[in-house]
Amino acid sequence: MNGEAFALDLDRVEAILPRYTTEGPRYTSYPTAPVWKEAYGPEQYRADLGREGASAEEGLSLYVHVPFCRSLCHFCACNRVITRKEELPVRFLDAIEREVAAVREAIRVPRTATQQHWGGGTPTHLTPDQVTRLFRIVTDAFPMREGAEISIEVDPRVTTEEHVAALRECGFNRISMGLQDVDPHVQEAIHRIQPAEQTAQLVEWSRSAGFESVNFDLIYGLPYQTEESFARTLDVVIGMQPDRIALYSYAHVTWVAKQQRGFERKDLPDPSAKARIMLGAIRRFLEEGYRFIGLDHFARPEDELSRAVGDRTLRRNFMGYTTQAGVDLLGFGPSAISELRESYAQSFRDLDSWQPAAAEHGLATMRGHHLSQDDVERRWIIGRIMCHGELRAEEFEATFGHVFAPRYARELEQLGPVIADGLVTRAEDGSLCVTPLGRLLVRNVAMVFDAYLGDQRKSGKPLFSKTV
Ligand code: SF4
Repeated sequence: MNGEAFALDLDRVEAILPRYTTEGPRYTSYPTAPVWKEAYGPEQYRADLGREGASAEEGLSLYVHVPFCRSLCHFCACNRVITRKEELPVRFLDAIEREVAAVREAIRVPRTATQQHWGGGTPTHLTPDQVTRLFRIVTDAFPMREGAEISIEVDPRVTTEEHVAALRECGFNRISMGLQDVDPHVQEAIHRIQPAEQTAQLVEWSRSAGFESVNFDLIYGLPYQTEESFARTLDVVIGMQPDRIALYSYAHVTWVAKQQRGFERKDLPDPSAKARIMLGAIRRFLEEGYRFIGLDHFARPEDELSRAVGDRTLRRNFMGYTTQAGVDLLGFGPSAISELRESYAQSFRDLDSWQPAAAEHGLATMRGHHLSQDDVERRWIIGRIMCHGELRAEEFEATFGHVFAPRYARELEQLGPVIADGLVTRAEDGSLCVTPLGRLLVRNVAMVFDAYLGDQRKSGKPLFSKTV
């Protein structure tokens, strides 16, 4: 995919966007989280962790959620605790130590990890010493393999040079910084004043300390953003030459993030302006040589994420697009999600529930889901569409022993309008290929294969953000 293809499609995209602007899942899991049930608790999770057949050779992916932030960004729908109290991180570390030990015990065989990611909240809300302690807690239980990807999300406003040194000392090799937008008017509206120089300083410290990959998170659709103002943000971003960029659509989900109600509708870019901001950014990244990974991620061609596209190991989970498809993911901390071969488990979201449960019982599972055979097939299909931009009917048959087209005849028929709009092409045997245009709206394509979405929509409850 190149910049020219997007330039040619620009008017076409704008013309069809209104038909595809609807609420829909981001497919960081299938089935999606609203399907999971509280009947799945710690005992089910413990049993799944100890399932027969898991061997020491199987690598692990680890996720650690550090929920603390110093102040609230008004766009944020993450699971976070705004605090300056020093005792909260101390209690958090004691509880997570119990949780990690309980998971290690339930797994029975010793296993090593090929990937570790810390998110939040703000992991560098912890002091450098606390960062080191937490890393030891996790890696004493699950040692990291040589060459593992070890990544962290940081906030440049609270991350010091001492943090950077401690992170490198632990072995972190990828660092991801929230940037969002550099325009002062936008920053004021979102309650996140972050001078570009502060971000540039952190980039410099990170590169000098030897981080292999420096990444930025941006958000489009924020109050007061325009195509012109966001173009200036892009200039700043490109100037710092990140290895990966995540360009997230602002999700207006007031039932999750009540503080978003403070945004005036009139100050938010309308759907057409928002689409143009997004397309302008995509075109710019492609012109600058970034590869479009999918939906909202871009990476330099030599980055591992780009290589994962090439060798079909790209994975989508609640961290977004990542590498190492098929590896068990263990999550620690409040709201963390674990993804095993045939189940999902999520810990209590709020700190006040997670902490006593983890401290007293180790596992703090709030809900989860065992995948049925139908779930497993559909997860595979949705994963192929979201990550590979294609679905090969013969690969489906080789994996599941069923012929794809007759088994999913209804869904293939439903894809008619999507095919007519040029989002997808279909072969005789039902194989699908998502076009460059379709990759922007890939959630809408995947939604056709979601067996739960119909009932979720009938319930009338707001569950998902807008697809554009
Ligand atoms: S955007 Fe990041 S720093 Fe801001 S409140 Fe959310 S988690 Fe905290």
